[in-house]
Amino acid sequence: MTHAYGSWRRAAGAARLLGPEGEVAPTVFAEMSALATATGAINLGQGYPDEDTPDEVRGAALEAISSGQNQYAPGRGTADLLDAVAHHQRRFYDLDWDPATEIIATAGATEALAAALLALLDGPDDEVVVFEPFYDAYAALIGLAGARLVPVPLTWPDFQPDLDELSAAVTDRTRVILVNDPHNPTGTVFSPAMKSRIVELAERHDAVIVTDEVYEHLVFEQPHLPIAALPGAARRTVSISSGGKTFRATGWKIGWITAPADLVTAVLAVKQYLTYANGTPFQPAIARGLVSGDGFFERIAADMRHKASVLGAGLAAAGFEVSSPDATYFTVADAAALGFDDAAEFCRELPRLAGVIAVPLTAFVTAAHHDDYRSLVRFAACKRLDVLEEAASRLAEIER
Ligand code: PMP
Ligand code: GLN
Repeated sequence: MTHAYGSWRRAAGAARLLGPEGEVAPTVFAEMSALATATGAINLGQGYPDEDTPDEVRGAALEAISSGQNQYAPGRGTADLLDAVAHHQRRFYDLDWDPATEIIATAGATEALAAALLALLDGPDDEVVVFEPFYDAYAALIGLAGARLVPVPLTWPDFQPDLDELSAAVTDRTRVILVNDPHNPTGTVFSPAMKSRIVELAERHDAVIVTDEVYEHLVFEQPHLPIAALPGAARRTVSISSGGKTFRATGWKIGWITAPADLVTAVLAVKQYLTYANGTPFQPAIARGLVSGDGFFERIAADMRHKASVLGAGLAAAGFEVSSPDATYFTVADAAALGFDDAAEFCRELPRLAGVIAVPLTAFVTAAHHDDYRSLVRFAACKRLDVLEEAASRLAEIER
């Protein structure tokens, strides 16, 4: 039995987790991680690293706890984190943000997304242009805000959007263009031309660009180019990132927003009633991480690239058709090449078939486009090399 009334139904419904009797299914990550625990399979489903947070960053958190930084942080975030984010944006992207008015800390990128979308959307006439497939929280939050999601497809195997389809999707009803670059679940990086077009369209239709850049330091070739760094973009862009992926600390939930003061004020007006503040001792620890030397950032990108290539080669050797990601934890494989047409069914069977967990791409799309992604599977490469090699050799045993 579920409660009959309330906006929870919009959130669950938009995420396609609401059943006909009002029952709520777990998210694909919860379902697949539980299946991994129950079966002992290797978990290449939910994206979290199996190696620990760097010593220095962990040490800084321990130090903060021991020295008594255990009460509420300021609502905007601790001064050391806000300064470190300002320094980081200047150092990597040549972007200048004032830590007093243009940066806030959040409970992970998830709260940043929630606060930004709830702040900027106001009902059923408002549209959000989203690249599909999309991170699962997007549809749920747009649903919660009571707004409309307008998808622009990213298609196998390179997952680059079509400029004309993008142009057609953005109209005067568009309040927000939500861009996840580098992209989960496909591992794609949008081209500079695509990002410029997004800025042009946002300007033409007076939309805000909200970017989710949590994989900014896990790009394999060229350095990350944030949309806010493009000409004319910064004044209408809310940029979001978090320390979870960069510092292998997904359980700490320290994120941040950079944006012009008027947009930060709007987002903060909502954020302060979601968590008010969070993770006091983890904020200085992530601040410590953000000022790491160049070698640290180069190493994590090279390490991820190597892991993605080991995973990709293993999947190809097992008979899958495989995409080549430019960034992130993720590689997409087509299970149709192995004779499996339904990725959701395939993923449920995979622990038995091979002792491995993965997630179907259909968990990241709207119902209308389910069939376009029907046989595609997302595998996460953020695991130790021996684990990836073991997973690959198990996958090679699948009988076709
Ligand atoms: N956005 C994307 C694209 C993600 O993959 C994730 C999950 N790691 C998040 C947001 C959530 O980030 P956080 O854990 O910092 O809330
Ligand atoms: N971001 C992680 C992923 O995409 C999972 C986050 C979650 O479990 N909500 O796999």
